[in-house]
Amino acid sequence: MRSDALDTSLCYSFCTSKGLDLSGIVGGKECRCGASRLNRAIWMGKEARPGLLLPSEAMSECRTHSGTDCPIRIYRFRGPFLSFGVPPARLQLSARDINYVDSIVTGHIDPDVEGRPDLEPKTSSATAPSLLTSEEAEGACPYCPSFVRHCDGLGSCWMGRNWRDRRPAATGEWAEEVVVPYFFDSDVDQTRKEAFRAATRVYQTVTCIRFVEVESNHTAAALLRVGILVGVYSSSSCWSHLGAHAETRFNLGSCMNMNHVGEILHNLGHTLGMLDEQQRPDATGNYHGHGPYLRVFWQNVPYPWRPVLTPREAAYTGSAYDGEGDAFWGYAPYDFDSIMHLPPNLHGSPIYETIPASKIGAVGQRSQLSHADVLQLLDSYRCRQASTTTTTTTQTTVASSTTTTPRAVQGCTQNRDCAVNPWCNDPNYQEWCPQQHSVCPAPYCVNDDGR
Ligand SMILES: [Zn+2]
Repeated sequence: MRSDALDTSLCYSFCTSKGLDLSGIVGGKECRCGASRLNRAIWMGKEARPGLLLPSEAMSECRTHSGTDCPIRIYRFRGPFLSFGVPPARLQLSARDINYVDSIVTGHIDPDVEGRPDLEPKTSSATAPSLLTSEEAEGACPYCPSFVRHCDGLGSCWMGRNWRDRRPAATGEWAEEVVVPYFFDSDVDQTRKEAFRAATRVYQTVTCIRFVEVESNHTAAALLRVGILVGVYSSSSCWSHLGAHAETRFNLGSCMNMNHVGEILHNLGHTLGMLDEQQRPDATGNYHGHGPYLRVFWQNVPYPWRPVLTPREAAYTGSAYDGEGDAFWGYAPYDFDSIMHLPPNLHGSPIYETIPASKIGAVGQRSQLSHADVLQLLDSYRCRQASTTTTTTTQTTVASSTTTTPRAVQGCTQNRDCAVNPWCNDPNYQEWCPQQHSVCPAPYCVNDDGR
């Protein structure tokens, strides 16, 4: 921030409003912000990259003097560090701020600001803050296929920015859980809430991701940085922002009840960071020897829909091997069954055909996460089975970790909704269920025997 009326308190409050606990004025006119080690929310639980922290040794004598000859005098927020960062009540963050700081912390530019759906960006300060030292983004291997990227758990192997609140799992099959808090805006009715909650539970049964509903307004304020605001922002549509951002929103407008759970599942995929399947670079062209899998009828595609049929290099196509317990590595085959796939017709006209043509019946389903959808989430979020990350005492745990498939993907499990939702026990539904492609159309309920 630059200002002619700059003083230490203005600079200090500017920096803390951006979640940064260090502030200092350079040359009397430029406010610079930074983060100390204590500010773990900024460092996302990792060690800071070289050059981003203040030097640990004393910088110069002048720091103990009251004179004005110091090149920079640095002040710091003393705490408390709620949720490991500057308290949410102090924050005034735009998505752009978050992306800017994160791109410096991680060393790569987050590309999805421009790709997000249509929420008006909040007004952000005229000049972004600068960390004490910024480095050029490291452009590693620009001509390599995207499926050689490593998944760092933060979103490095796909386009969205991941949710980052990880904690040890108290029980169950995962070593760690990723917590995604959400809050219902005041205009959400009970049927929409029920549907949304049901969809979140689907992700919970097959991944290490935990959606946690928070109920107080006070906590909701904290969501401006760390959670999803779920409301009705446009009654004729159902959408979500891509990945974790300040003010990530989920619009339940046309997703009104349990009939729309599949659409909510699709959009929760976006909330978590997934793009549509047909946005992969191998969908409509040849990409490092793979594809194309669709032939688009562009004359039938209205202009506003063209972006969702345009290849995105950043889309997930697989990843590099990320060590023991990695859910997936290598090229991920194009998935016609993905819940993230666009249906083949729009306003009654075909907008693409599949290659091979026999796959046309599979695309556009909204009943369950496909096996590959789940693997993609496990991979990008680095979900590790509990047994594979505990101290390895025998060699045999390695073998079991590489062949494990997620429990609820292959075998049907009783959806817990059945206990509380009478609709699930409706005889008509019981008849309808087995007629579908799968005996387990999550999130709907099946009996334990698979009927
Ligand atoms: Zn979509």
